[in-house]
This record gives sequence, C-alpha cells and structure tokens, in this order.
Amino acid sequence: MRLPEKYLCGVLSYVITFQVLFFLLHKVFIMHDVLANVPNLRINCLDKGFVTLVDAMPRLVPEDRKTADYAIVQAARVSYGDGTKAINEDRGLIRYLMRHAHTTPYEMIEFKFHCKMPIFIARQIVRHRTANINEYSGRYSVMKDEFYFPQMNDVRKQSKFNKQGGEEIMSDTDAQGFLNHLETVCNQAYDLYMEYNEKGLSREQARMILPVNNYTEWYWKIDLHNLLHFLALRCDSHAQAEVQVFANAMLSLIEPIVPMAVEAWNDYHPMRGATKLTRLEIDALKLLLSKLENIEIPSLETENKREQAEWLEKAKLLGLNLTAN
Ligand SMILES: Cc1cc2nc3c(=O)[nH]c(=O)nc-3n(C[C@H](O)[C@H](O)[C@H](O)COP(=O)(O)OP(=O)(O)OC[C@H]3O[C@@H](n4cnc5c(N)ncnc54)[C@H](O)[C@@H]3O)c2cc1C
Repeated sequence: MRLPEKYLCGVLSYVITFQVLFFLLHKVFIMHDVLANVPNLRINCLDKGFVTLVDAMPRLVPEDRKTADYAIVQAARVSYGDGTKAINEDRGLIRYLMRHAHTTPYEMIEFKFHCKMPIFIARQIVRHRTANINEYSGRYSVMKDEFYFPQMNDVRKQSKFNKQGGEEIMSDTDAQGFLNHLETVCNQAYDLYMEYNEKGLSREQARMILPVNNYTEWYWKIDLHNLLHFLALRCDSHAQAEVQVFANAMLSLIEPIVPMAVEAWNDYHPMRGATKLTRLEIDALKLLLSKLENIEIPSLETENKREQAEWLEKAKLLGLNLTAN
C-alpha cells in the first residue's frame, strides 16, 4: 500500500507544481495586468476625498497589446470579421467606432472605483443611472466627523452669466468669514448628531442634522461607454468645480488603460475636441463658403483614408465640391 501512496503524492505534487508554474508563466510572460499601467491607483480629491481605481475588466490582456483597448476591437471584430490584428489597425477601428457612434464595443470594458466625496457631489454623480453603486450606510453606521471645507481660493462668487455656477473668487475676508461659519455649523451639527445617537435616536433620523458637505463613500462600477458620457458632462467647465475634480481624477486613472479610446473620444466627442453643427449653422456656413473663391480643401492630419473620405463628404455637405489637395 505504501508504494502507490508515495507514487500518488509524487504525481500530485508534480501536477500542482506544473499548474502553479503554468499560471505564473502565463501571467508574467503572456498576459499583462492593465492596472500596472497606472502609476498611482489612488488620487486624492478636495480636502479629504479620493478616487481609487479598484479593478478593471479586462484586467489581463495579451502581452503584445498592453491596454484594455484590446477588448473593444475584440468585440467589434465579431461584427466586422477578424481581419489583421496590428496595433495600428486596432487604433483605426477604435477611432472609426467612436466617429460612427458604434458604442457597444466600448461597453465591453468596465471600471470599478472606490470614491469618497461630499454628499452634495455624490448627489450629482448618482444622477448617472448607468453606474452600479454600493454606498456607505448612514442607517447602519455612524456618519464620520468628516466635512468638506474649500480652500480660500475655491470660495466662489455666484456667476452673473451662469445661474448654476460660481466664477470669481470671494475676497479673502468674505471667504474666511464663510469658512469660519461653515466650520462652526459643522462642529455644532456633528456634536448634536452624536448627542442624539447617544440618546438612542435612530441613526437614519439623527443624520438629518448633518449638512451636505459631510463625506460619504461608495464603490462605483461603470462600463467605458457610459463612463465617457459621464466624463464628457462632468469634466466640462459647465459642471461644478468640485465634481470636475473627481471626474478628472477618474479620467487620469483610466487613460493609461484605454489610451486609444480616450484619444478617439478627445478627437470626436462634441464636448471634447469636436462640435455639433445645427442645420441652421450649416446653412450659414454654406452661405459663407459660397462667397470664397479658388479654395482648396486641406487634407486632414491623418493617414486614415476612410477618415479623409468622410471629410470630403462633409465638405460636400458644406457646399465645397472640390477635391482634396
Ligand atoms: C452641467 C449640468 C447641470 C445639471 N443641472 C441639473 C439640474 O439643474 N437639475 C437636475 O435635476 N439635473 C441636472 N443635471 C443632471 C442631468 O440632467 C442628468 O440627469 C445627468 O447629467 C445624467 O445624465 P444622463 O441621463 O445622460 O446619464 P445617465 O443616467 O448615465 O444615462 C446615460 C444615457 O442612458 C440613457 N438613459 C438612462 N436612463 C434612461 C431612462 N430612464 N430613460 C431614457 N434614457 C435613459 C440616456 O440616453 C442617457 O443619456 C445637470 C447635469 C449637468 C452635467
């Protein structure tokens, strides 16, 4: 009986060693972890907040690709056929998909963030219904004594032009006065909150005392298509400055993971490098261009033939019926 037992153990340890070795070799030499592209996975935001990139899907990509852009082309090639697989062709396909609003391949990538932000900023982010969220519970746990206090040079006057925004900063005296009041109110509110907690008032009601600059935390997961929609709206200068801080942090965390997708988004999204023209604006442009004589249509700064052809089509739409130089 001893010999087969010994034999079995030998075989088992051989199999386990082989599997561990195979896993390590595969991980180290064949697949690349995209989180390794990001130098620092946590970015501090405002005075006590942060955005941490917790996970990404796909997390492992082929070593010769290095970025999760790979998952976009992988999905798209189901509809467009396998074709060649050079990286520059990946880029062309990713850009084509973005230009033509073929968005579902972008949904193949997901990001999970751990965020800590003031409640009034969470209220804006939560409007983006396509994210999955799990938030700190003020019913279950005691809210922390953590409130957002802007820096002096972040205390803004009400904008005269944008009813939703602030612009110029307040004078030092007024800003300091506001911050002193804010601190007093937050301290009093938190003391009262704790007092009522100790008296046995339910946490779900005691929290009504706390102001909306109290910090909350959540895990927030979203696919790349919807994340880019969120970032277009919340990195924009019309969004509240504080939410822009969180959106810009997310953008800088994902850019090294999906550089081609972010480049295409920056080039083609109407709230980034591109714009939309209305029919009325097109008519006005046509009128303007019809007055110009002997003009040559310049080529675009791209070697992509399809994009050049699309440009010629648009030039025709504007009444420029000439060939590109
Ligand atoms: C600068 C700025 C100012 C704002 N001001 C206000 C304000 O004063 N008051 C206010 O209430 N909100 C305000 N918002 C919030 C805004 O109206 C949107 O609710 C928020 O930006 C989410 O946008 P979304 O619905 O496109 O995003 P998501 O909820 O992420 O949805 C993404 C896309 O999915 C589709 N979608 C998702 N759910 C539905 C649905 N139920 N039905 C149809 N389509 C759906 C839509 O195409 C949508 O664009 C403001 C937003 C910004 C950026």
